[in-house]
Amino acid sequence: MVMTQRIAVLGATGSIGDSTLAILAAHPHDYEVYALSGYQRLDKLFALCQQFIPKRVCVAVDSVNEFAQRLNQAGLKIDVVGGAAGLIDIATDSQVDTVVAAIVGAAGLPSTLASARAGKRILLANKEALVMAGQVMIEAVKTHHSILLPIDSEHNAIFQCLPPVIQQDNTQIHERSHGVRKLWLTASGGPFLQQSFSQMQKAGVAEAVKHPNWSMGQKISVDSATMMNKGLELIEACHLFDLPENKINVVIHPQSIIHSMVEYSDGSFLAQLGSPDMKTPIAHALSYPARINSGSQPLDLYALSALEFIKPDLQKFACLHLARQAMQSGTQATIVLNAANEMAVAAFLAGQVRLTDIADINEQALSQVQVSTLSANADIDDILAIDGIARRYTEVLIAKMA
Ligand code: NAD
Ligand code: MG
Repeated sequence: MVMTQRIAVLGATGSIGDSTLAILAAHPHDYEVYALSGYQRLDKLFALCQQFIPKRVCVAVDSVNEFAQRLNQAGLKIDVVGGAAGLIDIATDSQVDTVVAAIVGAAGLPSTLASARAGKRILLANKEALVMAGQVMIEAVKTHHSILLPIDSEHNAIFQCLPPVIQQDNTQIHERSHGVRKLWLTASGGPFLQQSFSQMQKAGVAEAVKHPNWSMGQKISVDSATMMNKGLELIEACHLFDLPENKINVVIHPQSIIHSMVEYSDGSFLAQLGSPDMKTPIAHALSYPARINSGSQPLDLYALSALEFIKPDLQKFACLHLARQAMQSGTQATIVLNAANEMAVAAFLAGQVRLTDIADINEQALSQVQVSTLSANADIDDILAIDGIARRYTEVLIAKMA
């Protein structure tokens, strides 16, 4: 008999949460929705509780009592926990097999790391966790025999194109033994690919979050518009696949059909193709190494007219260049970059700065924030201390610009 996988979806009310729960709803015998978390949009979380009847749910600390009462009144017996401690509690619950790490930003780091230390199978969407704490995370995964499966579409594509020995044994990639020469991350180029820098400068929030191919949360949509998303993904890939940044190339592919590629030394390029729908990588990771129906639309190859590839313009998309620089400098720099970027994106969404200011803010934070190199045995507190310093610096910078 096949065992039911018990799942905790952290960030259940977001875009990745939507796609994940759509798959779980379609396969009720294989997966049990054991726990959910949400931060805002509690009406949506309540509806999810009615639909899936999880055993546990996590909300913000201030909302615990009210939410628990609401569930009670509806006759739902669900344990309600709150805040960062509640997320960790759920992520490490002995009943949970798989944690879907789908909280956006630094807020997802503590629970994602706790899942690794509890030896869980982790479906990782929260790329910021690896950007901030790549070494600590990977170390925790190895020590506690956790299984880390990327659901970011590019990294999932690369994972699928790598040799099975690397997929299954967490073995380091060596060009000589595995023939892997390079990884190629594809990028859509976002909504401003065909527009000039000055047009980008004038862009409002609505234009910036209107992604041509993917429907996603606001923060990652803005990151896609500046191509910071690809920068974060470059850093994510370095940690996931244990490769230096110069082994990873970025190519713009506006159709978002090829989700990424692995280049081999014999000249072969292996690519994973599919409709731009996050249900595909999520279903892959949920059922890996088996395959299940994800519910995504099959790719209509006859309807595809062309697949294009363009070299990114690093002046227009300076964030991509900054991410490479930060990766070369070390983890303290990628923490600063991530923190500055989260603050800058929030300021843009609040109408305080222009879209193109985001790269300037990130650049200034990266060059001005003074932090010492992280030691090899640094832990989450050291990481969060640097994150805090960078946020305080960026806050002042934004106040001056706004
Ligand atoms: P989203 O904004 O739609 O959802 C974010 C989720 O995180 C929500 O459930 C929200 O309640 C929760 N959250 C936000 N702040 C929180 C806090 N302080 N504490 C606890 N919970 C909090 O975001 P999304 O688009 O689903 O993205 C989630 C993550 O997945 C991001 O790291 C993003 O980069 C990554 N990702 C998303 C996509 C996509 O297609 N949406 C693709 C690849 C990777
Ligand atoms: Mg991606």
